[in-house]
Amino acid sequence: MENLNLAIKEKKFDVILEYAKVFHGHICPYLALGIRSSLIAMEELSVNRLGLEESVDESILAIVETNSCFADGVQVTTGCTFGNNSLIFLDTGKTALTLVKRGNWEGVRVYVDAEKLKDYYPPGAIELFEKVIKRREGTPEEKRKLSKLWEETGRKFLYLPKEIFEVKKVKVSPIEQAPIFESVRCSRCGELVMAPKAVYINGKPFCKVCAGKEILGVIGRGIVELEEVKL
Ligand SMILES: [Zn+2]
Ligand SMILES: [Zn+2]
Repeated sequence: MENLNLAIKEKKFDVILEYAKVFHGHICPYLALGIRSSLIAMEELSVNRLGLEESVDESILAIVETNSCFADGVQVTTGCTFGNNSLIFLDTGKTALTLVKRGNWEGVRVYVDAEKLKDYYPPGAIELFEKVIKRREGTPEEKRKLSKLWEETGRKFLYLPKEIFEVKKVKVSPIEQAPIFESVRCSRCGELVMAPKAVYINGKPFCKVCAGKEILGVIGRGIVELEEVKL
């Protein structure tokens, strides 16, 4: 595969999509939308994919408002990831990306309105999606057909007219840099826990799992409070 950074600079959509497929597992419409939205935001903000420096000092942040396939397209293209703390997840449930520079907090927000995409799906694709994914009723053959259609649609979505994307300049409220915390040892399982996450019972530290506390988790539907987590 060609160098990803170069492909992004040269806007070689198909090369970027191959990288995204490796990361995401499949090619689909919203993965492509994540890639395209990122490229638009990066161009507007005149920034490249995160390099060594930016990924360490979190100087560019990608704020996504959905944890769907879209978010993986954003991570691959911008280099702002879950693990380098440059990806911020706001649980608003919208297909939107805001790319912002730490410092002046000037950013670009790209919003995708699903209704505008309707005419760009191949015939039958949406109905098949409803059956196979939403209702989980697809036969193996229908599943194969959908992945083929979905990949086709993803490739097509990379080249959507720019007018589909709502782009605006924004001023973002500052977000703190990832703090480094001390660790404490859970009195029950013996594992180390970031100090602010520990729960104290009778003066002794416990992890939330051992303490039986509810834990916030990002699952398919977004951020939820999970009760009684067993690991
Ligand atoms: Zn996907
Ligand atoms: Zn524990």
